[in-house]
Formats: sequence, C-alpha cells, structure tokens
Amino acid sequence: MIPVKSYAALSKTDSLAPFGFERRAVGEKDVLIDIMYCGVCHSDIHMARSEWGPSLYPIVPGHEIVGRVSEIGAGVTKFKVGDLAGVGVFVDSCRKCDCCKSDLEQYCDEGMTGTYNGYERDGVTPTFGGYSSKIVMDEHYTLHIPFTSQLEAVAPLLCAGITTWSPLKFAGVGKGHKVAVMGLGGLGHMAVKFAASFGAEVTMLSTSASKEVDAKKLGAQHFILATDEAAMKKAACSFDFILNTVAAPHDMNAYLNLLKLNGTMLLVGIPPEDNRINAAKLISKRRSILGSMIGGIKETQEMLDYCAEHNIVSDVEVIAMKDINAAYDRVLKSDVKYRFVIDMATL
Ligand code: NAP
Ligand code: ZN
Ligand code: ZN
Repeated sequence: MIPVKSYAALSKTDSLAPFGFERRAVGEKDVLIDIMYCGVCHSDIHMARSEWGPSLYPIVPGHEIVGRVSEIGAGVTKFKVGDLAGVGVFVDSCRKCDCCKSDLEQYCDEGMTGTYNGYERDGVTPTFGGYSSKIVMDEHYTLHIPFTSQLEAVAPLLCAGITTWSPLKFAGVGKGHKVAVMGLGGLGHMAVKFAASFGAEVTMLSTSASKEVDAKKLGAQHFILATDEAAMKKAACSFDFILNTVAAPHDMNAYLNLLKLNGTMLLVGIPPEDNRINAAKLISKRRSILGSMIGGIKETQEMLDYCAEHNIVSDVEVIAMKDINAAYDRVLKSDVKYRFVIDMATL
C-alpha cells in the first residue's frame, strides 16, 4: 500500500482538513502519479456538502488532476516513468457495455467509477480524489498531457474543458452559429474559448456585470446581463445554442426564451434543486434541451491535443492547499477568475 497525504471533509458540514490514507500498490496495468496540480470544480463543493444526495465520507474531492508518473506496472504500455499524466472525473467503468466499447465510458451502463465519492469495481473500496499527493490509476483511464509548461492551467481541462467541449462537438457548433454561454465560471470560461475557437459568434449571459470585460477577452463578442429584463427581452429568439453551466437554482425558462426556432440548450450545470420547465417555452419554437456529462477517454485526449495545438488553457488562480475552504466560499459567490487550482507542492 502507498501512504498518501490529502485534504478531506469528514461530513457534509465539515470544512476540508488534512487526512491521511493509503492507495493500492501499483498493479500490472497501473501507473503511480505524483500529483502536481488539481483544479477546484463546483462539483467538488456539491459533493463535499452532499448537495446531490448523501456523499461517502471521508470525501477527498478533486478530479482535474495533472502530475508525473513515478512508477509503472509490468504490463503498462501507454506511459513511462517521468511522463506527464492527467486524470479526470472517472477512474474505471465496466469496460464491456456498449457505452464503454464505444469510448463513452462516462455513460457506462453499470455506472462509471467516480474519481472520488464512489467505489472501485469491487464495490467496497472507496475512491479518493485529487486533493492528494499521489494517485494510482489504470493506464487506460489516464490521459497524456501534451504540454510542457502552464501545467496548472492545463489541469481544469480534465473536467471544465471536456465537459464543455463534448456537447459543443456533439451539436456540431461552429461557423454561422450564434451561441450563448450561461455563467462565467470554470466551465463557462472554457465554453467561451471553445465556441469562439470553433468559429461561432459567442454571447456571454452572466449575472455579474463586472465580468463583461473579461468575457470579451476570453472570446465573447457580446455580453448580456442576465438580470437586465429589457436586455433579455431584446435577445428573445436569437441563439442557435445556449450552453448552460449555471451551478445554482435559476429559472431556465427565462433563458429558453432566447433560443431560435429549433434551438437547443446544451445543459451541463447541475444545480442542487430541479428546474421547472414550462412546456410552452419548448413547443412554441420546437426548442430542445440536451444534457451532457463530461466526455470519454478518447474524446478527452482529442480535446487535450487540440488545446495543445491551439494554445488553449484555463485562466487560473493558483492556491495553496490550506486555502481550499476560502476558495470554496469564493466560488459560491461567483468570485473566481476563472478556476482555482491547488498547487500540490503546498500539501
Ligand atoms: P462555477 O465556477 O461556480 O460557475 C458557475 C457560474 O454560474 C458562476 O460563476 C455564475 O456566473 C453563474 N451563476 C451562479 N449563480 C447563478 C444564478 N443564480 N443564476 C444564474 N447564473 C448563476 O461552477 P463550475 O465549476 O463551472 O460548474 C458549473 C456547474 O456544472 C456545477 O453545477 C457543476 O457541478 C456542473 N458540472 C457538470 C459537469 C457535467 O459533466 N455535466 C461537469 C462538471 C461540472 P456569472 O457570475 O457569470 O453569472
Ligand atoms: Zn468537475
Ligand atoms: Zn460500461
């Protein structure tokens, strides 16, 4: 077994605090990764606080992991010691269902194994995430990191990046499309970068007036303050796609109204409370809502390779591990530019 340092919450009301545990010994197909950086996703907060139903405690969040391989199993072919490696939202899946066989492991019929707040395939060993010093990973579920620098800004690609990339690609978003992005946070800022990179005309729909300048720097041509009723009314029926990254309860109907005929809301945000959808808002313009969850291993690698080629990384604020609870408070106030990333050397 391998001793590991981490930060964990012991219950839904506890702050994160130092916690020690052991990872499994490196197996035949495993790589041991010394974690360098881990991004802070809003999902970490939802799960640390049991906002999506009871979580498993102790919980060690973190699923935007970049590190360096320090040991490999005898049967490993994808990695060698010294390689950079990445880990996203899941660490295993059944490997035999149609989804797994079609590189859509995130939709595994038996359920993917979450990087944390889950159990290994044995059903009893809890998984612990990336707010930790080391992780042992099956090489199949481990990503190559095709960057040599800015590794702190690469880490958020493993969740915020792939989660926004996948629905934009699935929907075929590109030149000639008008796309709006709801919420300028971790996911939202990557959505703006990708949609702009694919050639779409991008509008930021934000509740924070102060984010207009940044939205435009990130690639948005237009900015609408979502709390400005007159501006929202004026934008009715104007977008082909709206990518909804909002993490808090909100009235989705007000935003659906902004879609054109046949327009689609690409939904990735997961507020703790259900949304009430007004049927008339959908049927009156043949609008639809399409949900999407992260991306498979193959697609995540494609996204990382594209980002390296086009020099797309996340805009980050690097923090020390001890400052994680203050960072959570700031995320909840929509006050992050635009992803917190923990420097694991501070653990
Ligand atoms: P985040 O950094 O907190 O960003 C969310 C943004 O939503 C905020 O910055 C804010 O932007 C906006 N917002 C907050 N409250 C709002 C409200 N009441 N009404 C309208 N907008 C509001 O969060 P994130 O890490 O990007 O994650 C976003 C959501 O996606 C979370 O629910 C997370 O769990 C989920 N998620 C889903 C997947 C998936 O696979 N589908 C993967 C990762 C995360 P403005 O200030 O610009 O309004
Ligand atoms: Zn995430
Ligand atoms: Zn499967």
